[in-house]
Amino acid sequence: MNAKDSTAPRILVIEDEPTIIEFLRTGLGYEGYQVVIAPDGRTGFDLANRETYDLIILDLMLPDMDGFDICRKLRARGDETPIIMLTARRDIADRVAGLDMGADDYITKPFSFDELVARIRALLRRQGKHPEQTVLRIGDLALNTETREVSRAGESITLTPTEFALLALFMRHPRRVFTRETLLNRVWGYDYAGDANVVDVHISHLREKIHDKPPRLIQTIYGVGYALHPEDEA
Ligand code: CA
Repeated sequence: MNAKDSTAPRILVIEDEPTIIEFLRTGLGYEGYQVVIAPDGRTGFDLANRETYDLIILDLMLPDMDGFDICRKLRARGDETPIIMLTARRDIADRVAGLDMGADDYITKPFSFDELVARIRALLRRQGKHPEQTVLRIGDLALNTETREVSRAGESITLTPTEFALLALFMRHPRRVFTRETLLNRVWGYDYAGDANVVDVHISHLREKIHDKPPRLIQTIYGVGYALHPEDEA
């Protein structure tokens, strides 16, 4: 999907936290979605009523109308747009309440981008709105985004969730250079406060598992980060 493609799914994000707004705007935009931001509940509710979206990401705690309220009112009006509720609360009662109000799914903050995108894809796919191919291939390396199976030259490879998320990100965007900060943001989540060296450690494990010997698929771009280059141009 291309970011400028007007047929790309449109996502309405109703969220008041600037950090998360930026995280979602950048990340979802890069994934090819059209993103519309509503920084408060009232604006979000009005936009959802006026326009059609393929999916709504709805924060629970908002300054004016809260997420429960918006969800309930949209459903009461017959609006069936899929809704993913963002909640900072770990309270099971809140999740159940959100689903009772008509949300389709919820995700608890802090969340990783990968986790959110997986939920978005699943919901859009259910609506028949996600034409994404499920098997990504680069040379003899194959990754199935649904079954989470990875293989190289037909040999099955077992990855940890973090390694899988890294590889899927690289395979979705061949040749793109990712800085360590971007990888931390995308794979570990916007609230990750640890050392960026953790990226190098996981990349090193990932390379070992996919037998990535020089000339490598996952190349180190010195002083910048990493990029996956298909073998024929490595
Ligand atoms: Ca909030």
